[in-house]
Amino acid sequence: MKTNTLVYGELKNLGREIAKTIDAANDNKLQSKERAANDSKLQDDEQSFQDSKPCVSIAIITDQNVAALYLNACVESLEDQGFHVFCKVIPPGEESKNGEVYLSILESMAKDGITRTDGIVALGGGVVGDLAGFVAATYMRGIKVYQVPTSLLAMVDSSIGGKTGIDLDAGKNLAGAFHMPSLVYQDFGTLSTLPEEELINGMAEIIKYGVLAGGEFYELLTPDEDGNIDLERLIRMSAEYKMDIVSRDAKDMGERQLLNLGHTFGHAIEKLSNYEIKHGFAVAKGLALIADLSGRHGWCSEETRDSIVGTLDIWGYDLSIPCDMNEMLDAIAVDKKRKADYIDLVVPTVIGNCELKRMSMEELYKCLL
Ligand code: NAD
Ligand code: ZN
Repeated sequence: MKTNTLVYGELKNLGREIAKTIDAANDNKLQSKERAANDSKLQDDEQSFQDSKPCVSIAIITDQNVAALYLNACVESLEDQGFHVFCKVIPPGEESKNGEVYLSILESMAKDGITRTDGIVALGGGVVGDLAGFVAATYMRGIKVYQVPTSLLAMVDSSIGGKTGIDLDAGKNLAGAFHMPSLVYQDFGTLSTLPEEELINGMAEIIKYGVLAGGEFYELLTPDEDGNIDLERLIRMSAEYKMDIVSRDAKDMGERQLLNLGHTFGHAIEKLSNYEIKHGFAVAKGLALIADLSGRHGWCSEETRDSIVGTLDIWGYDLSIPCDMNEMLDAIAVDKKRKADYIDLVVPTVIGNCELKRMSMEELYKCLL
């Protein structure tokens, strides 16, 4: 599967960047069509002519919070490039990532006359990104999506890799599709308005990447003597780290599973709290727990364990586990029923290396209790 392009810039240049992406795609198509015509002397049919037409309409999907801050800049930037813009603004929060909102956006796009050759801009956090990505994956069997993440979590995680979806009453992210964005466009300036809690929420994923990558990346997680960190550099390193793994394992069959470090326990904690504990805060607890477990079982040294827990401490995470271990194991077991009879636990061995440890639920019970 083709991976997405990652570009950093200001929102006022979004339109230009999307126009460039479309031009590049059309050039590629024309070149490959010319090749095909030369090779087989086949005439282009009506359909392939459609494919090479430039995209003229863009539907921006965003939430009310982000719309109030950044929608105008995006609309202007797209209109300057001649795009015809439609805006779909949804209420903020996970509650909007549902079938009703999803269908209402599809219906209104159809009423607006948006076609297969048009595109969608997902402007916002992971909720907007997942929902808009799923709309793009399914509208007329798939149209282009340009991810424009504005939360830290979306910049380093959800906008990259093509996982899209919505929640069902039966659980989170149960309906979805892989749909790679044609462009991920990040404006770090948007982080200036992100609430502090959302920054810390996203930081847990960055710490996860740091543990996986090790070296300088890991060192950058600790503020310097003046208490400063280079957040922009960390975002770039995280986004590129994920992109690199996804380019080798787009469909989550192997290496991509390493990105689940801290998530087996994190997801269970999130679920048991009825999602009152936000994802990143639950992942921080999950990271501390897996580091502790690895230290206890000799999968990593005590120094490695202490280092991971120490880094999480610096960022002020509450690392207490708010449920008993039996409850947690039951929550993991329920989740596991949807997959297979075993768990692939991601365990840190040293900073900069993690391994998948396949174990049955019985083995997991034994090593946790
Ligand atoms: P979110 O989209 O709800 O954003 C958090 C809050 O911040 C919202 O209130 C939003 O309006 C606000 N906000 C966003 N950007 C802002 C800005 N620049 N200034 C001010 N306010 C801003 O939540 P999130 O944490 O970004 O994403 C969580 C979602 O991401 C979950 O639904 C999760 O399932 C999904 N996710 C998907 C993937 C994936 O690979 N597809 C990975 C991780 C998480
Ligand atoms: Zn995560």
